[in-house]
Parts: sequence; C-alpha cells; structure tokens
Amino acid sequence: MTSTIPARITQQLPFAISQLPLLRQLFNSVQQRGHWRGGVRLRGHKQLSNHTPIRSLPLAGQELAIPLSHGRSSAQPCVQVGQRVCKGEVIGDGPAGTVWAHASTSGVVTAIKECCPADGDQRQAAVYIAADGLDEWAPACRPTTVLTPASLAAFAMQMGLVGLGGAGFPTGLKLQGASPDTLLINGAECEPFLTCDDRLMRERAGEIVAAAALLASVFAIGRVRIGIEPNKPQAIAALWQAAVGSDCHIEVLTLPLRYPAGGQPLLIKSLTGRTLAPGKLPAEVGVMVLNVATVYALGRAVLHGRPLVSRIVTISGAVAQPGNVEAPIGLPVASVLAAAQAQGDGSVHIGGPMMGRKLADARAVISKTTSGLLVQAEAFLPAAQASRPCIRCNRCVDACPMSLRPLHLLAACQQQDRPALQQEQLGACIECGACSHVCPSKLPLRDSFRQAKRTIWLGVRS
Ligand code: SF4
Ligand code: SF4
Repeated sequence: MTSTIPARITQQLPFAISQLPLLRQLFNSVQQRGHWRGGVRLRGHKQLSNHTPIRSLPLAGQELAIPLSHGRSSAQPCVQVGQRVCKGEVIGDGPAGTVWAHASTSGVVTAIKECCPADGDQRQAAVYIAADGLDEWAPACRPTTVLTPASLAAFAMQMGLVGLGGAGFPTGLKLQGASPDTLLINGAECEPFLTCDDRLMRERAGEIVAAAALLASVFAIGRVRIGIEPNKPQAIAALWQAAVGSDCHIEVLTLPLRYPAGGQPLLIKSLTGRTLAPGKLPAEVGVMVLNVATVYALGRAVLHGRPLVSRIVTISGAVAQPGNVEAPIGLPVASVLAAAQAQGDGSVHIGGPMMGRKLADARAVISKTTSGLLVQAEAFLPAAQASRPCIRCNRCVDACPMSLRPLHLLAACQQQDRPALQQEQLGACIECGACSHVCPSKLPLRDSFRQAKRTIWLGVRS
C-alpha cells in the first residue's frame, strides 16, 4: 500500500520553507530579556485609526508656521520675508549644538514671528510660509564626509532631527560621544488611540531596518533590538521580513502588553535585562535608545538627503476620516482636523490620553513632537470625577512601574517636603500616570508629581 502526500501540502511546502527564517526570528522574539512589575492594561482604541494607509494632505493655499526652537536649542532665521523657498531648504540655523529648521513645503516666506506649537506650553519664534502647492524639493543634502559618530551627530543637528517619540530631545546630542554596545529601537506605542508608529512600521519597515543597520555600522554596535508589543502583528511581521533581508543582525522582540512598556527604563529592562537607575542616562548602561520614527527620520536624512520636515500624526476620536497623515511641520492643527472632518465642539487632545494634554490654542501648529490629535476625547474616556480622600488601598503602589509609593509622594508634594520627596524618589517618576489611572479616589497623583518637579527642582512657578 503506498501513501501519498496531499497536493495541498506539497503546494505549500516551498512557501513554508521560505518562512523558516521568520520562524527563527519568532523563536528569538518569544522571550523578553528582563521583567518589570506594575503598569496597567488599557483599552487601546487602536482599531479606530490603524486600518488605513498613511495619507498625505493638500497644501495649496495653506500658511505654515515652522517653529525655530526645540528645547533649549533656538535656530536663527536665515531667510527673509518675500523669499521663495523649496521644501527641505534651511530656514533657521546656528552654531554647533543648534537644531536647524527647514521649510516643510515650497512657497514664499510671509512673516517671521511667534507661533504656538501644538504640544508646547510656550509660544516660539517661527518662519511662516505661504505654500504654493507644488511641494517642490530642494536638492538632496547628503553627508559629504565618511560618517563617524561625531560627524553623524553633527549632521543630525543640521538635518533638524529630534526624538519623535514625545520628548523631542535633539538626536544629534543623543548621538554625541556615545559608544553603546546595544542599539534599542522603541516600537512600543502603549498610549491608547495612537497608531502613527504602528502604521510607520507596517509601511516603511525596510527603511527603518536600513537606518538601524547604518547606525550599527557607524557606532560599531553588535546588538540591535527592536521592541514592539504583540498587539501589532502586521508591524512585527513587516520588521521581521525586513530584518531577515538585512546584512545587519537585528532582533525583533516583543514587549509586555502593559502601559507604559515604552518608558525608557522599562524598555531597557525588557530588552536587555539591564537596570537604568534614576537620574542615569542609557549610555551609562551601554545602550542607545531611539524611537522607531526617529530612526526612520535619521535614515531619510543620511540615505536620501532629506531633513525632518514632516511626521506621521494619528487623527482619532470623533472624526469622519480617522487614520494617520503625513503632516508637514508647521501645518495648522485646524487644517488637519478639517481634512479629517472633525466633529463636536472643537475639543482636541494632543497626544494620547495618558501623557498628552488638551489643545490650549486653536491656532496651534503641528510640531515635530505632535503624535496625535484626539477629537472629543471626553466621549471615549471615563468622565472626570472629583477627588476624594485617600483610602490607602495601595493600588497606586501596585501600578507604579518604577516601584515608587505614589500615595507617600503625594503627601510629600502637598507638604512641599523636599527631604521626603527625595526619600520617595520623585526624580525616578516617569510621569506615566498609571497611578492616577487606578486610583479609586481620583487623586491628581501624576499631575502633582509633574508640578512638583517643575516647582521644586526647576524653580518654575505655577
Ligand atoms: S490608589 Fe489612591 S486611594 Fe489608593 S492608596 Fe493610592 S492614592 Fe490612596
Ligand atoms: S506617574 Fe510616577 S509615581 Fe505614578 S505610576 Fe508613573 S512613575 Fe509611578
């Protein structure tokens, strides 16, 4: 009696064999390298915006206001009112250590005056450009010398690169003087509603992997790991595919599906097992940490000669056309909302509901750190409630991923007790808001810690 292999199996065998490298990657990815306690499971609301490709927006007739400052770096305008500029042309520069600014579309400079970046709390000097609708690029600007860590850091400043994961720290400063043994790429997007990094990883995985390989080569880094939560299977698959085809050994590892998995000390713990002590920099434990969108932007700059002139922004909530758009820096938030057909009374939340903030000024513009616009957030989130006294349930302690005691921190904040704040390690708080989220008494824990850091450490008055 002869046995026959069903045709269905023989037909699929070549495909199965072709997937073996992916299976090896999958095997590698199963284990995280380290564990952390605490955090919270949040309802993601990702399906509202993650199912359509990244869109572009029409720019004809728009006036863009491109901010010249990033943190402590302030570029000086190097264009004049009435001058025509092309997309990518330098409009603000300065000495070493300055993040340069670039035109995010072609058009004519109409003014140099203050603007309000969407997620900043201060007005900033900006170059205003009336878009001509042509979106005409200036000639590409690639590095002119062999790349070294120092020359790449300087080039990153000149190409306007800042961290796109939220903080907006100048990328060139992060690269300066670094000699890590491990590059960690943060693909976690643990904030509810936000899907900009998810779509970027799904659609542009090849470019991300090419940029990671470039960084590994310039810094002679032997270990590259990309961390993503398992609720992004298409992004994981796209990065696996791209990593398998790369000369550089890149591991794609899964992170815990808990907020805030992308917090820097937690990401380092998950992907390397190393502990980042409060107040220490990642370089001190031998790692370089970059957000996935920052790595993509670095690749665009070095490999294609394109400065950072746009970013992916999620539009979610009460809008007729939710999704992700490639928004030029400086585009009015109102224009993005109009394109997505926003509904409601104009209430907009910038970023995710955990770390973001309410839009303070309706004239605000998209900045390099604007990750998302959440329209009518109140309709999707639990209603705000008045605070009640602490019942000492310890839920905040269990939720804190940094092993702090938020109820004791709050007491120290209220009494402005500096020694107690130091003893309770206020400086270790990553302001994730997990404690506030779980507190049954609705105490303003995270907001108090944020304010205490500003008033006590930085001397800023509220
Ligand atoms: S969760 Fe809120 S009520 Fe419970 S101990 Fe912490 S601060 Fe007090
Ligand atoms: S906001 Fe600070 S204290 Fe609260 S859970 Fe996060 S790290 Fe802990």
